[in-house]
Amino acid sequence: MRGPRLSRRAAALAPSSTAAVARKAKALAASGVDVVDLGLGEPDFSTPDFVSRAGIAAIEAGRTRYTDVAGEPALRDAIAEKYRRQHGVAITRENVLVTAGAKQAVFNACQVLFEDGDEVALFCPYWVSFPEMVRLSGASPLLVPSEIETHWKPIASDLAERATPRTRGVVLNSPNNPTGSVVDREELQGVVEWCAARDACLIFDETYDRFLYDGRPHVSAAALWDEHGDRMVITGAASKTWAMTGWRLGWAIASREIVNAMASYQSHSTSNASSISQSAALAALTDPVRTDEVVAEMLGEYARRRETMIAGLRAIPGIRCLAPEGAFYAFADVSELYGSREVAGSADFCERLLVETGVAAVPGDAFGADDCVRLSFATSLRAIEEALRRIAAWVAAPVRSS
Ligand code: PMP
Repeated sequence: MRGPRLSRRAAALAPSSTAAVARKAKALAASGVDVVDLGLGEPDFSTPDFVSRAGIAAIEAGRTRYTDVAGEPALRDAIAEKYRRQHGVAITRENVLVTAGAKQAVFNACQVLFEDGDEVALFCPYWVSFPEMVRLSGASPLLVPSEIETHWKPIASDLAERATPRTRGVVLNSPNNPTGSVVDREELQGVVEWCAARDACLIFDETYDRFLYDGRPHVSAAALWDEHGDRMVITGAASKTWAMTGWRLGWAIASREIVNAMASYQSHSTSNASSISQSAALAALTDPVRTDEVVAEMLGEYARRRETMIAGLRAIPGIRCLAPEGAFYAFADVSELYGSREVAGSADFCERLLVETGVAAVPGDAFGADDCVRLSFATSLRAIEEALRRIAAWVAAPVRSS
């Protein structure tokens, strides 16, 4: 039987390789293989009690109906207040749209800002969904590579060099998934000024804004809001900060005009984010003291795991890996191992690693860097140590000749 024709948009979509790795790892585990999963892209912590309880209270109080499409006014105020407190800028409720996660915030921003024939610059390595979101808006991605030698940092002059008159936007994510790199203040300033000069818009994704190591401060486009707020959409989420990935709660900060356009778009697609999740997020955002406590606890744990992960990877001949400045991933260059193993690229490498050692990692080609693999350390120290042991033994084993 032949089903209906798929739209060109749907047919052209690349399936998410992070989801593909998860599927394969699950299938192997179900068949009895002892899988160590480093493919995960989410905190392994539970949502803090005080936040979960607010969600339960919302259900019990019957706050289970539609809310304003743009979000409950009190939550929009609390999000605006977070930005005023952190950056001392004039962001108010009208500049806030509540979304079903940061993913929807970036998606809706692309839908209202870009169109057929536009180009949108993506610093590479990029988060997997950015190119597809850009394509779904009708625009095409313009890749601006960054290198391990320059700590995977976005460089404003690289953007200026690659851009064309069709480049209408830039997507920049800091701290970055997958590399963990944090944009330098001057480079971010350069990107924002480039956007202003070219009538382009910056989408600045700060989903990991609370997870930076070694006391490094977060560098946010929000600090430039008062001068350049009409040229940016800042996206964030409760997902990582309060370990709330399943609650689907995020936001976009933008000019009133862009927020209204995104809210209209949302009103015809998903409507408001879950009313229950909004109540939980309100409790989270209005308790900065408890938030600082739970974040410090998670960050301390991630920092210990990061140390073990990076030291372990660096001890394996043929693997190059920087200590990520933020987020919770190690992005390791494994390309030196390709030749001796006749590996065709990162997807092939991850497939072999999974089948031969039971370690699940995400191929770098999903992020635009085929020399690399992404290994998450949002999992237990024991799992990380076991994975490192297996990878080291696999790399050390003589290569079978066929
Ligand atoms: N941006 C980046 C860079 C991410 O890594 C993720 C999640 N992995 C998201 C956005 C989406 O977050 P959310 O779950 O809040 O939609």
